[in-house]
Amino acid sequence: MKVKTLKQIELVTDVRCDVCGCSTVMAEGYSPQFGVLQAAWGYGSPHDGEQYEVELCESCFFEDLAQLCRNRQLHFMFSDDRDWNIPDFGLVKPGSGERRDDAALVPFTGHLLSVFIT
Ligand SMILES: [Zn+2]
Repeated sequence: MKVKTLKQIELVTDVRCDVCGCSTVMAEGYSPQFGVLQAAWGYGSPHDGEQYEVELCESCFFEDLAQLCRNRQLHFMFSDDRDWNIPDFGLVKPGSGERRDDAALVPFTGHLLSVFIT
């Protein structure tokens, strides 16, 4: 015999951007669309033990991604051995999990966990 009861569950119906505060729900009835900048710093880092998570609306995500791309361009603009102009900076190939710009990236030694759009 099945005994049934009603349970209250908590659903995320919206995510507010941590930068501009706007809603990330693009269309009524659909899940929020947002990106996450996330890091967990470990041993050897001056930020050892600190974790960060910033949820971003689409607009703020791409503004920040553009700024990171500009930072990369500035960092490598006088380097001969790096292609500093990457049109698909950070973009992941659909279904593969591989970044389109992997071949051009300098090996990353930090602990940045992810930057993605949900
Ligand atoms: Zn925003």
